[in-house]
Amino acid sequence: MRNLIATKFGGTSMADAGQFRRVKNILLADPRRRFVVPSAPGRRFEGDAKVTDLLYECHRKLMLGESYEDTFARIAERYLSIARELELDYDIRPELEEVRRNIALLKSPDYTASRGEYLCGRLLAAYLGWEFVDAAEIVRFDRQGSFAAEWTNDCARERLAPLTHAVVPGFYGSFPNGEIHTFSRGGSDISGAIVARAVGADLYENWTDVPGFLMADPRVVQDPRPIHELTYRELRELSYMGAPVFHEDAIFPVRKAGIPTCIRDTNDPSASGTLIVDRADAPADCPITGIAGQKHFSLLSIEKTMMNSELGFGRRVLQALEENGISFEHLPTGIDSMCVIVRDEAIAASRDRVIERIKELVRPDSIDLVSGLALVATVGRGMKGAPGVAASLFGALAAAGVNVRMIDQGSSEMNLIVGVVEEDFEKAVRAIYDAFVTK
Ligand code: ASP
Repeated sequence: MRNLIATKFGGTSMADAGQFRRVKNILLADPRRRFVVPSAPGRRFEGDAKVTDLLYECHRKLMLGESYEDTFARIAERYLSIARELELDYDIRPELEEVRRNIALLKSPDYTASRGEYLCGRLLAAYLGWEFVDAAEIVRFDRQGSFAAEWTNDCARERLAPLTHAVVPGFYGSFPNGEIHTFSRGGSDISGAIVARAVGADLYENWTDVPGFLMADPRVVQDPRPIHELTYRELRELSYMGAPVFHEDAIFPVRKAGIPTCIRDTNDPSASGTLIVDRADAPADCPITGIAGQKHFSLLSIEKTMMNSELGFGRRVLQALEENGISFEHLPTGIDSMCVIVRDEAIAASRDRVIERIKELVRPDSIDLVSGLALVATVGRGMKGAPGVAASLFGALAAAGVNVRMIDQGSSEMNLIVGVVEEDFEKAVRAIYDAFVTK
C-alpha cells in the first residue's frame, strides 16, 4: 500500500483555469497526494506561447534595450485570467508587479524564467488552500551551478516534513547567495523527483499530456503499443536516445530513494500510464521494451594496421576530441580500426582541426569522417540472455534493405544500437518494431 504520493504537473496541465480544475480533481481524488510541483502554464492550443518562453523573451528584449511591457502584459493576463475564472480570493497583482520590476532590476535570465513556476505555484496554492513553499528555500545549487543533491535533500526534508500539504514550484532553486538558478528546460520533472525523495513518497506521479511512454515514436510507427512498465535503466537508455517524456536528470533522486515514478495523463486520469521501477521481470511476450533514435551523428573511422597492439592509441584519439571540447557518444572498435560516434553539431566547427590532430597523434593509415548518420537504439531488459534477438533485428533490417553502418551493444545486453544513413532512419525503426511486436 502506498501512503504518500508526490505529484508534478507539466505546463499543459497548468495552461488555463479548466486545467487547474482538472489538477485539483486529480489531487483531491486521492488523499495520499499531498505534495504538488507545478510547471509554468504551457500552451493552451496549437500556436499558443508557453509562459516560460514569453519570460525568456522579456529578458531578451531587456538586453536589447527594447521594451518588454507588451510581452509581460501577455504573461500577466495568463495568470489574471486563471485567477478570475477560478474566482480566487487571492490577489496576484502585487506579485506580478514585483516580478515586472525585478526583471529589469536583476537582469537575470534565470530569475526571469523561474517566475513562470513561481507565480503558477502561488495561484495553485491559493486555489487548493495548501501551503506555498518557495523552491529557492529548498533546491540548492553550488557556486559553480551544479545541483547540490544532498544539501537540497536536507533542506527540503526539514522544510516539508512538518507540512501535511504543500505546493512547491518546479524548475528552479537558488545559489548559496540566494540568487535564483534554474535547471535546464523541462526541469520541473527534476523538482518533482526532489520533493518525492525529500518527503519519502512511496510514489512519484508525473502528470503530463501524453498517456505515458510508447514503444516507438508515433510519428514514425503507426499506433505504437504503450509501455506499461519500464525500469529506470531502460528509461535512461531511451530518453538519452531521444524519447522525450521525462527529463533524464529527474531519474536520479527517485531512483536513489527506490521510489517508482508513474507517468500519467492529466486529460485522461483513468488511464494507468507508464510505471517506472528499479527492477522488473521481463515481459513474457516481447524481448524489447522500446525503440528510440536520433539523426545528426557523425562517424569518425580511423584505420591503422596493428592498431590493437599500439599502447595508448585509443587514448590519443580521444585526446584530440577532448582538446577540441568534443564529447563522444559511442566507441565501437575493431582490430585494425576504431570508430568514434559524435554529434554532428559537436564536431561541425572543428572537423578539420580534429582530423589533423588525430593524424599528428596516431599517424593512421586512413581517417574518414562521415556525417548524416542516424542511430537507432533498441532497448529491453528482456534482451539479456535471450538468444536470437540480434538475429531477428538484423534480419528485419536486411529484409527492409537497410544497410547497417555501425553496431554497438553495451555489456548490459539491454541496448543494441545500430547506425544507419539518415534516409533509412524511419524504415529501420519500423522494421525493428514489426519484427518484435505482433499486431
Ligand atoms: N517551464 C519550464 C520549461 O518550459 C520548466 C518545465 O516546464 O519543466 O522548460
